[in-house]
Amino acid sequence: MTYSEFYRRSIDDPTTFWAEEAKGIDWHTPFTQVLDDSRPPFARWFVDGTTNLCHNAVDRWLPTQADKPALIFVSTETDEERILTFAELHREIQRMAAVMQTLGVVRGDRVLIYMPMVPEAVIAMLACARIGAIHSVVFGGFASMSLGSRIEDATPRLIISADGGSRAGKVVPYKPLLDEAIRLSAHKPSAVLMINRGLTPFSNEPGRDHDYAALRATHLDAQVPVVWLQSTDTSYILYTSGTTGRPKGVQRDVGGYAVALASSMKHIYCGNPGETYFSTSDIGWVVGHSYIVYGPLIGGMATLMYEGTPVRPDAGILWQLVERFKVTVMFSAPTAIRVLKKHDAQWLRRYDLSSLRSLFLAGEPLDEPTSSWIAEGLGKPIIDNYWQTETGWPILTVAHGIDNTPTRLGSPGLPMYGFDVRLLDENTGEALGPDQKGVIAIAQPLPPGCMQTVWGDDERFVKTYFSSIPGHQVYSTFDWGVRDSDGYYFILGRTDDVINVAGHRLGTREIEESINSHPAVAECAVVGVADPLKGQVAIGFAVLRDPAAAASSADRLALEGAVLAIVNQQLGAIARPARVHFVNLLPKTRSGKVLRRSIQAVCEGRDPGDLTTIEDASALTALSEALAG
Ligand code: ATP
Ligand code: MG
Repeated sequence: MTYSEFYRRSIDDPTTFWAEEAKGIDWHTPFTQVLDDSRPPFARWFVDGTTNLCHNAVDRWLPTQADKPALIFVSTETDEERILTFAELHREIQRMAAVMQTLGVVRGDRVLIYMPMVPEAVIAMLACARIGAIHSVVFGGFASMSLGSRIEDATPRLIISADGGSRAGKVVPYKPLLDEAIRLSAHKPSAVLMINRGLTPFSNEPGRDHDYAALRATHLDAQVPVVWLQSTDTSYILYTSGTTGRPKGVQRDVGGYAVALASSMKHIYCGNPGETYFSTSDIGWVVGHSYIVYGPLIGGMATLMYEGTPVRPDAGILWQLVERFKVTVMFSAPTAIRVLKKHDAQWLRRYDLSSLRSLFLAGEPLDEPTSSWIAEGLGKPIIDNYWQTETGWPILTVAHGIDNTPTRLGSPGLPMYGFDVRLLDENTGEALGPDQKGVIAIAQPLPPGCMQTVWGDDERFVKTYFSSIPGHQVYSTFDWGVRDSDGYYFILGRTDDVINVAGHRLGTREIEESINSHPAVAECAVVGVADPLKGQVAIGFAVLRDPAAAASSADRLALEGAVLAIVNQQLGAIARPARVHFVNLLPKTRSGKVLRRSIQAVCEGRDPGDLTTIEDASALTALSEALAG
């Protein structure tokens, strides 16, 4: 079957299509209805079916691969390595689940996980899934304010945390931040469970805080059976990255998510049981949920969990891991590749990568120069994935498990099965044809695996996602794009970031792509800045592969001229930024996404807004300095 036939079936007859895909997981009781969409835009998948994510990720594999690796942990921060087989992981999950039960956690309770990238974090997530507690993982890099607001929103009974994490060799204490976050939050957890890594001392609050090692020791033989959950029960809450403002608590189900992941492992990632999957993301992000924890394990694969940066001890570390653990499927982000791009390409060739079939990249636009650089360096197919926290798995990519649809540089690919992707005029809601720019939307129902609602706020779900396009109750991605005549989509930026120059609408991405094609540029960001004459003008900020290239002001001027000439030639004078400034760092979220909203504010002399998710606030100061001088 060709991909286009496969796709058509998923859209024309979703009930038959997803009933077939649902065979990819174990059900305790079969569902009686594939889809209940009687209350749009809410979609309930596999109604009355009961299943469990932990069962599908772990227990299901015990008969065939109990002694095969399930969780491979490598930390170049603490020089630790641990390999847990499926049987060992199964035992650890039950110990953790028993400890959680001792602390009063029951089905439906929220458990907030604020943890570094250590095995206990994955064990805690799976233990929640096992007993029907709803986990909410908060990225370990967040400070008290962001954490506090998430505690208040998710109202957890229990918080699981650790003494600290480590980043580029520096210990980051977690406990003081957690204590402060709990103090800030109106909701207080009844218990805190601490994993003590021995990285940094911390104080315990008597009666509230518990030591995991001590409690675990009393539950070594724990047998905690799987709780069979309704397919439509809630498995977890995960807050979006906060690139565009106040994070939304994405709420996900059990059965639909399990089916979507099992299906994506087969059709998109092409991973097989017994192989190793390596995602460089963090469990605090959706990629971590779907493709560090649940997806690979549901697919019977070992998952490689890595605490460390891509360049320590050297820029070859990721590929060394691929060689050592015979990774077959790898998942990373363009931002990580851009970091590697500042190092010698020979690092990509030092290790035996013969096990590796493809490298998937997601999270941000993958510019053509970066894509070609890594594809040539590795000699492997690079597959772009476009998706969102909200969808849980790819909206746009290519499904090489179905046929070998070619990839197209600069495009994440085609709509994935189940996603009825539309390109609409955001003002009129009119459907657009090839080569016309518009907002990327998805017609109802959203396929299995997508968000059920905004946690605790059905109205915000409907209002935020389904009410922005006039006359159509469709899901808006709030991304702007274009489709070519073969159906490949290209992401042009977020709808908020579209620039309006003298009546011409330009996506920031188009200009960024062009600037990135200058060989000296490692990465860049373009924003639209208010201009009395033209409405808006584009301003670019570029980070150079070698900062020395713009050491003197004459160098900077020459380089800026060269970059502007490229844009002029590729896109025309209308797209040419008024200025391109060279900086050492771009303001990014903790997940590596450029905060264009804040850059724009700084350029216009406004307050940069909510910066709780920013990676390094000094990037904004550097930006102001570049603008001033
Ligand atoms: P918030 O919604 O809180 O502002 P966020 O949108 O950054 O945060 P995520 O859900 O992590 O949070 O990111 C999804 C967004 O990332 C997409 O809507 C899109 O803008 C961008 N994105 C993800 N993958 C790609 C890709 N392959 N190409 C282009 N853009 C991508
Ligand atoms: Mg978003």
